[in-house]
Amino acid sequence: MVENACVFCKIVNGEIPAKKFWEDKDFIAILDIRPNMKGQSLLIPKVHTESKFSAQSDEDLAKIMSAAKKVANLLEKTLGAKRVLLVFEGLDVNHLHAKLFPYYEHGTGITRLGPPASKEELEEVRKLLTKQ
Ligand SMILES: [Zn+2]
Repeated sequence: MVENACVFCKIVNGEIPAKKFWEDKDFIAILDIRPNMKGQSLLIPKVHTESKFSAQSDEDLAKIMSAAKKVANLLEKTLGAKRVLLVFEGLDVNHLHAKLFPYYEHGTGITRLGPPASKEELEEVRKLLTKQ
C-alpha cells in the first residue's frame, strides 16, 4: 500500500489539523494559514484530484463552482466582504483547490495591478492566442 503524502488529503482525513469552517458531502473549506486578507480560504474536494483546473471534467468544475459560490456567500455575509475573488492556481499542493479571497478594498492583495504593458506586448500575446 502506497502512503498518500498529499497534505490536503491528510487535512480531509483529519490527520493534519486545519481551521475548517464549512463542508458538504464533496468539499471542505478551510482558512488559509498564510492569508493576505481576513477570511482567505481554500475550498478542497474530499477526493484527491490533480490541481490543474483545466484538466477537470465540466461536471466536476460545475460542482466546485457551486460550492465556491456557497462559501463566497458565507464569507460576504459574515465578514462583510464586498465580494469574493476566486483563483484556481494549485501550484504548491497538487490537489485541486479553489482559493477564495474576500475583497474589502480596491488595490489590495490580488487586485493590485501590474506594471503597464506596451501595445506591442499585448498585441503579440493576442496574436498568439488567436492563431489557431
Ligand atoms: Zn490529495
